[in-house]
Amino acid sequence: MKEEQRVCGDCGAVIEEHDDGATVDSNGWHCGDCAEETAEETVASLAGKYNDVSSKIKVLEKEKETLRAALVRRMGDEVEVTDGHYKVNRTVVFANRFDSTAFKKENAELAEKYTVKSSSERLTVELAF
Ligand SMILES: [Zn+2]
Repeated sequence: MKEEQRVCGDCGAVIEEHDDGATVDSNGWHCGDCAEETAEETVASLAGKYNDVSSKIKVLEKEKETLRAALVRRMGDEVEVTDGHYKVNRTVVFANRFDSTAFKKENAELAEKYTVKSSSERLTVELAF
């Protein structure tokens, strides 16, 4: 009978009996390389960095909004301003949006028939205490 093959849950590599540093935990096997990588960065370390970057993005988004408002104010009634290396354009963009709420309300059966379920993964990182 063939022995069950050990496969790294991270990279998919087949783990040999003598693979140095291979580990096994509740998530399964990890080859030497992946186990080392996992050991370097803990979840806490990665989560901390993740939250850090998220905060910086929020601050920068706010700064961008402030600068946008200042630019629009500075342009006054002009729709195009050229200054130095920059050309700033202001245009109104129209879009046609399908009113799915109203459609569902008035055509419940049809809406149900054409509703396709999809999934995506959401990751939330917050302080545990
Ligand atoms: Zn691996």
